[in-house]
Amino acid sequence: MADNLINGKEIAGKVTEKVKERVDNLKAKGITPGLAVVLVGSDPASQTYVNSKTRTCERLGMYSVMIELEETISEEELLNSVEKLNQDEKIHGILIQLPLPKQINEDRVIAAISPLKDVDGFHPVSVGKMMIGQPTFLSCTPFGVMKLLEYSDVEIEGKHAVVIGRSNIVGKPMGQLLLQKNATVTYCHSKTKNLHNHTKQADILIVATGQPKMIDSSYLKEGVVVIDVGIHRNEDNKLCGDVDFASAKEVASKITPVPGGVGPMTIAMLMENTCLAAENTLDK
Ligand code: NDP
Repeated sequence: MADNLINGKEIAGKVTEKVKERVDNLKAKGITPGLAVVLVGSDPASQTYVNSKTRTCERLGMYSVMIELEETISEEELLNSVEKLNQDEKIHGILIQLPLPKQINEDRVIAAISPLKDVDGFHPVSVGKMMIGQPTFLSCTPFGVMKLLEYSDVEIEGKHAVVIGRSNIVGKPMGQLLLQKNATVTYCHSKTKNLHNHTKQADILIVATGQPKMIDSSYLKEGVVVIDVGIHRNEDNKLCGDVDFASAKEVASKITPVPGGVGPMTIAMLMENTCLAAENTLDK
């Protein structure tokens, strides 16, 4: 790999190694961290994500269950399943694979997860605590980006971080976590005027637009650190991100590839959150 690449696969390996040690410690105390992954319907992409999450659990010696539910399930039935998992002592973390079918209100389902088991960090209680800097479960993708920056020795304090994207699961929490580390943060989105003017000022640029290869070198200042959160499968079945990697890597001082950048970190942070949820039960 070229020097300026941020190797997410390698960093995720280091993170999960530490998680494995924590899992072993918990097991010595009689607790096996347990994750329940709920999959509604049979979307192939969701199926792939869910499988790799449960496989990683097994590799780290954690307990995992996959709850597969019919596409046509009612909201009430799904809420009942969530409640059962809330009560289940073997389960420390609950993840509902999104998106959910149209007949189901996602917000209501997320709010039904016990905040003690909200390892995805999407519950309003987790989001609120994150905003005010209290310990909580952090949303896995932005949490993973923060780890990538930390392991790559990227200085955040005093830097200008520009986040393109303001979704509840990536963009918004991303900016907040950077702010907590004393970056000056700018959020950009689809209504932002003169996007180039903003991105050109970035010392750290986080791209989470959902638009394949949208950001090329023309958006970048020389030496910027570029984190590409996007993930797409293009016509020739290859994965690409929201950044035009070939062009951007010529200007960036550090850059994440796709695949092998942010993606592996998201799962690693889910493992860390599940381990933390199990550790929290020790304090009770
Ligand atoms: P969303 O579609 O929910 O949000 C996209 C955001 O980008 C919105 O805020 C939107 O603005 C903004 N946007 C869209 N087009 C433009 C544009 N032309 N200029 C500026 N801003 C724009 O996506 P997510 O946040 O869920 O995901 C973002 C990307 O990250 C996707 O590619 C997704 O696949 C990937 N992803 C990867 C993960 C991983 O583990 N690697 C995990 C989660 C997501 P507005 O709000 O105005 O509509």
